[in-house]
Amino acid sequence: MEILNKHPGVNLKVYSIWFNMYPGDDRSKWNNTLLSDSRVTQFWDENKIVGRWMVDQKVVDYPRQILWDAYLLFGPEAEWQDTPSPLISWGMPVYHRRHKLMNDLLPLLEAETTAAVTDIEGPEPAVTVPQVHRGPEEFDLIVIGSGSGGLAAAIRGAELGKRVAVIEASTIGGTCINVGCIPSKALLQAAELYHVASHHSFKGMPSTSTGVDWGAVFQQKDELVAEMRKSRYEDVLDAYPEITLIRGWAKLMSGTRVEVKDVNNNESETLHYTPDKIIIATGAHPWAPPIEGLEGAGYLDSTSALELMTRPASMIVVGGGSIGLEISQAYARFGTKVTVLEIQEDIIPEEESEIAGELTDYLREEGLIIETNISIRQVRKDERGYQVISENMNVTREFNAEILLMATGRRANTSGMGLDEAGVNLGRDGEIIVDDYLQTSNANVYAAGDVTGRDMYVYVSGYSGKLAAENAINGNSRMYDTDILPRVIFTDPAVASVGMTEEQAYDERHEVKVTTLPLEYISRAKVNRDTRGLIKLVADKSTDRLLGAHVLAPEAGEVIQAAAVAIKAAMTIEDIQDIFFPYLTMSEGFKLAAQSFDKDPALLSCCAG
Ligand SMILES: Cc1cc2nc3c(=O)[nH]c(=O)nc-3n(C[C@H](O)[C@H](O)[C@H](O)COP(=O)(O)OP(=O)(O)OC[C@H]3O[C@@H](n4cnc5c(N)ncnc54)[C@H](O)[C@@H]3O)c2cc1C
Repeated sequence: MEILNKHPGVNLKVYSIWFNMYPGDDRSKWNNTLLSDSRVTQFWDENKIVGRWMVDQKVVDYPRQILWDAYLLFGPEAEWQDTPSPLISWGMPVYHRRHKLMNDLLPLLEAETTAAVTDIEGPEPAVTVPQVHRGPEEFDLIVIGSGSGGLAAAIRGAELGKRVAVIEASTIGGTCINVGCIPSKALLQAAELYHVASHHSFKGMPSTSTGVDWGAVFQQKDELVAEMRKSRYEDVLDAYPEITLIRGWAKLMSGTRVEVKDVNNNESETLHYTPDKIIIATGAHPWAPPIEGLEGAGYLDSTSALELMTRPASMIVVGGGSIGLEISQAYARFGTKVTVLEIQEDIIPEEESEIAGELTDYLREEGLIIETNISIRQVRKDERGYQVISENMNVTREFNAEILLMATGRRANTSGMGLDEAGVNLGRDGEIIVDDYLQTSNANVYAAGDVTGRDMYVYVSGYSGKLAAENAINGNSRMYDTDILPRVIFTDPAVASVGMTEEQAYDERHEVKVTTLPLEYISRAKVNRDTRGLIKLVADKSTDRLLGAHVLAPEAGEVIQAAAVAIKAAMTIEDIQDIFFPYLTMSEGFKLAAQSFDKDPALLSCCAG
């Protein structure tokens, strides 16, 4: 316990840890460092293990790795025992302690290690260590969770004249800003620029990409996250004096009684409230199916995959859905050899099969290995890395890589929240069951966002948070309606859809007509010299109304909204054909696709009316 003796302020009594070593890592080097493998084992022996912390970082820069591991292991005040939720143990509170701990440990580490300690300072933490609010207030409405769902609910509650408290156990802002949409898209965008620099079709233009400064890319991503969390969440909360932010872990008791525990589990800090209404917006966490050997081997999930400090040489990604594919393509474009394993017949199985097929081809052209119909039987890990064993129709296959990412879905954050006692019923996967008004089986408790297990998109969380607040306060007047819900997968080319697929339209007994326009016919794509993709439209033959639109294109997310509006407005294909679309936009492709129901697109001249 060298480090503890020299640094009495650091108090270790909580965490266990798994060190995942990788091929090429030299375990003997750890003996020269503060946190050698053996010392970690010692910690296990000498301390009560109440949680298991998995560190899945590749060890390259040892001093930096030590710091990373140290702040995962200790808090300067060792305040994290008994973390009650997987989400908390995901490291958000840790992140906020990094700066302080780094400052505490840095001199010590510098003295003890020969290599230079570089590049360890992250952005200044935007949020301080969570603390329970100590106000005497009573509240009309308590919202649990400060993600997009929780914030939307709180703001609506305040607008409707209520005294509102938001309880947050971890980092303000929840998934999207901290570990979801923003960091993933920031990485994807960087990867795209890097890739396109050396993979374009313009003559006379340089086609080279020089080495990536991984640390700088990740630091810029983290800075963006911190900046946007402040401007989009913290400052917004500050602008509403009617809303009180309470830091702590919320648990429901009977009725509408809410207990808020200090996240450090300090009993004396526990507070109780009895609001009129409660809205639960506690989000979801990454989930992996039970597979033999998986837990023991350890793995990355979408959160830790966005925080790797070095680029892995190879990576297996289990799950060919949106999150798996986005992260796969980003890493592949930075140079990692990526193998995607999908259990279904196609990746992105909920999308049109033509789109899944073409996207598979494009990703393969970029060097990704994509294997479908893969049923994983076992995961093993040794000094060579991971071995993922699949079995299908008596054929056994083995896939190997340095690291493993499980992108196999997300499950609601409902455990440890006393929901049973409060009479809030859960579904099979732990999601909160709500009715069309987002009311739970406890009439005074509503739920919104990912925790309901429905439509896990940030804009739906925001919508449902607002709706839940209105219904909770004004009585059930607004029904949850996501019939026309555009969605985007931010690969390149991207996938965007709204409304029915062809198969769904048949299932709904429509008389179906479809058209598929290759991007080749869209001038914007021609000028961009990137004609990968297609636009498929599904319409009802008898009414001529548009039922669904499915786009595979670099700007698919920008095109789909026109289709969403058209479906919402019950437009016919003829209506769409009559709308002006500015020339040399990708969205003009939507009109051209509508025209291609009646005309051969090869016979349309420029901007044919
Ligand atoms: C890698 C990734 C990429 C994504 N990309 C996109 C995208 O591009 N577009 C998109 O629309 N969606 C995207 N999503 C999904 C999106 O992030 C979520 O749908 C959305 O953030 C969910 O918001 P929420 O408010 O329901 O929950 P969250 O944002 O998860 O908020 C829940 C909050 O509740 C807190 N909490 C939990 N339990 C308790 C408790 N007992 N007491 C107090 N606080 C508690 C948590 O700490 C958390 O802050 C992505 C998700 C991931 C993982």
